Amino acid sequence: MSLDASTPSKATPPPAQRRRVSVLGATGSVGQSTLDLLSRSTDAFEVVALTGHSNVTLLAEQAKASCAKLAVIGDAARYGELKAALTGTGIRCAAGPEALVEAAAEPADCVMAAIMGAAGLRPTFEAARQGRRVALANKECLVSAGDIFINAIAAAGTELVPVDSEHSAAFQAIAGSDPSGIERITLTASGGPFRTWSLEQIEAARPEQALKHPNWSMGRKITIDSATLMNKGLELIEAFHLFPVSIAQLDVVVHPQSIIHCLVSYTDGSVMAQLGCPDMRTPIAFSLAWPRRMAAPTERLDLVKLGSMTFEAPDEVRFPCLGIARAALIKGGSAPAILNAANEIAVDAFLEKGLGFLQIAHLVSDVIEAADVRGLARPPAGLEDVLAVDAESRQLARTMLRAYV
Ligand code: NAD
Ligand code: MG
Repeated sequence: MSLDASTPSKATPPPAQRRRVSVLGATGSVGQSTLDLLSRSTDAFEVVALTGHSNVTLLAEQAKASCAKLAVIGDAARYGELKAALTGTGIRCAAGPEALVEAAAEPADCVMAAIMGAAGLRPTFEAARQGRRVALANKECLVSAGDIFINAIAAAGTELVPVDSEHSAAFQAIAGSDPSGIERITLTASGGPFRTWSLEQIEAARPEQALKHPNWSMGRKITIDSATLMNKGLELIEAFHLFPVSIAQLDVVVHPQSIIHCLVSYTDGSVMAQLGCPDMRTPIAFSLAWPRRMAAPTERLDLVKLGSMTFEAPDEVRFPCLGIARAALIKGGSAPAILNAANEIAVDAFLEKGLGFLQIAHLVSDVIEAADVRGLARPPAGLEDVLAVDAESRQLARTMLRAYV
């Protein structure tokens, strides 16, 4: 199954009603941008549940400011702190991984799934299972559990609106078109902070250099993934599950200005692209308001000021993660889930434990190979299987990491 951007389902409420929105991962980069937009359109939206992992102070502030009904902190040890911060407000609170799933199940029209990493799988699946519209920022649902997640959305008769800017762009460029006429989907990549660096320079890159993204302001993990181009590899996998194309119909072009977010080419030679200044509030607003539009206070695109846009082919020698991710997509089964788990461990090790920048790709590739030998790459039967492969792959990555640092 793939997305149909042209027909809103029954999950789309009539315009007169305020749309009820829960935000999973409210304290993160996407979560904060989501709440910023919702706070500017209180006539159209009301906030139901908010979740965070450990930042109680911010979560409590957000819950009070947005008049949320429920606030959930993932770290169970912080329950007392959250309860104290919300005393007298009438806002319910809870803590722990199960409570995150319950937050996703609260009655709402739309759930913004913006928890980082595999921790977002269970809550996002629950939102789908309950028939909520899923505004999907979390990549791991599609990367690690693509077919299973798309089937869960279809089984619940609900809809998925992508938040990742490239997929939001493709969704918009496809809307209303005959899907059988799609010839190619081209995701754009900024190229990250090391686009013009030599292999030797990249080898010596430090975390603070990799965390300086030229165009986008995002969480730490995805910022490192943008520097290695693993992010674009994960996005190829996302796109494969979202849109009616084969792997051979997907490609990537480096576009350092990040103005065109995706291009969809049709069999008649037309190419539809979506453009905008690089600010996540545009795709987030699209996902919240779809099929309508809402205002977002982003910088407006001024083509004359911009002057020119440039494009180049990705260099898979200096940025091997893109090819590693494509190979995992081609291999199929649980290979993308192993890729994702190993990459999360590798990125964390780069940020915290002195793993070299280029070693991220080496470790991920070694883990995929070792996991395959152990039979982990088999196709997952369901969500529990995905979570088991994820846990085993992380363990394997941690063990193999010892040979590197
Ligand atoms: P972030 O690190 O800024 O925020 C992550 C959120 O998830 C926080 O609220 C954090 O508290 C929560 N979280 C983290 N670990 C958790 C756990 N174990 N249990 C419960 N909650 C946990 O990340 P982000 O940049 O906002 O990205 C969120 C997701 O959206 C990621 O999957 C990312 O790949 C995707 N995404 C982000 C952007 C972007 O511009 N930031 C763009 C496209 C896609
Ligand atoms: Mg993206």
